[in-house]
Amino acid sequence: MTKNSDTRDVDSILAAYRLPERIPFGTELAPVMYRADFRDGKWQSGELQPFGDVPVNPAATALQFAQQAFEGMKAYQSPDGPRLFRPNLNWHRFARSAKRMLMPEVPAALFARALATTVSALASFIPRGRGQSLYLRPTMFGLDPHFAVHGSDNFAFLLMASPSDAYYADPIRIMVERENSRAATGGTGAEKVGGNYGASLFANDHCVSRGFDQSLWLDPATHRNIEELSAMNFMAVIDGELHTPALSGSLLDGVTRNSLLQLAQRLDIVTRERTMPVEALLDDVRAGRCSELFACGTGAIVAPIGAIGEASGTSYELREVNRMAARLRDALLDIQEGKVADPFNWIVDATNARRLGNYLESCPA
Ligand SMILES: *Cc1c(COP(=O)(O)O)cnc(C)c1O
Repeated sequence: MTKNSDTRDVDSILAAYRLPERIPFGTELAPVMYRADFRDGKWQSGELQPFGDVPVNPAATALQFAQQAFEGMKAYQSPDGPRLFRPNLNWHRFARSAKRMLMPEVPAALFARALATTVSALASFIPRGRGQSLYLRPTMFGLDPHFAVHGSDNFAFLLMASPSDAYYADPIRIMVERENSRAATGGTGAEKVGGNYGASLFANDHCVSRGFDQSLWLDPATHRNIEELSAMNFMAVIDGELHTPALSGSLLDGVTRNSLLQLAQRLDIVTRERTMPVEALLDDVRAGRCSELFACGTGAIVAPIGAIGEASGTSYELREVNRMAARLRDALLDIQEGKVADPFNWIVDATNARRLGNYLESCPA
């Protein structure tokens, strides 16, 4: 690889960088990012560069057709140095999202090099408090400018980073969304692509205007069964068991969802992945059989839910808030932060590109 003219910039930028006194969640952007481009039919070698605006042609397929995909993952400061949590799942999911958007897969070696280079450069800026981490945002988008509806031949792959505090929100109030859909059957709901978020903004804004925090999406075909929230999966504690909507093809297969289900089983909690009709859940909440609801995702890990309601303003409080959620969150964080042994082989050194690349390729999707 040729030495880039920005290398000095990167070194001096890192030397001058200071973490803010109070670390926010997801708004402090690290001063460097990794970039590799797909050109002439192959991935070019990437490099760390100063974080900042990137030139994008206004007619690029990324902007005109949402030819785009992204991931959300975290590097944690363990006693043995920075660690990643199940990055194989993010890598495989990123590949599925890219494929669905007619974009090339990022090879394991490149994904690993981007992660290891970025995390190594930022290792001293990973905050160490409980739940704190370096949030990582791999992103890919089409660069070619044209208005004809077909994909690009050229793509940018960026890895951005954000030193982040734990996301301790007050319990959220969710509103059952009965009109709009987030993602269609046969659409892109199972992929992590920006278009899904674009499709959610209008309804979410409406739900906020009704005094709620987030929309609870139902299945797009019948609007009867619960799917998930806009950026988090959904879980319910019913008669002491942990229930979550089964993967339907239009909801996201979350890393946190999958991990909490496995952790719960280890804690002898019965787990059920099933079709969850919303009317039955509301009955269970009113009758007290459903004691607790929470959402889960990489950012918040778990977000306790205080109430569930309707656009009319009707809402039901949960009998318990943040009880099983807090227990699972602690169990997960203990593994992610290296406070307890990792019985699942979920944790891997974030700074060694070779080892990380092997891990990505050897661990299942
Ligand atoms: C990212 C995301 C989640 C959470 O997935 P994790 O892998 O746990 O971070 C859930 N739902 C949607 C729609 C998402 O985009």
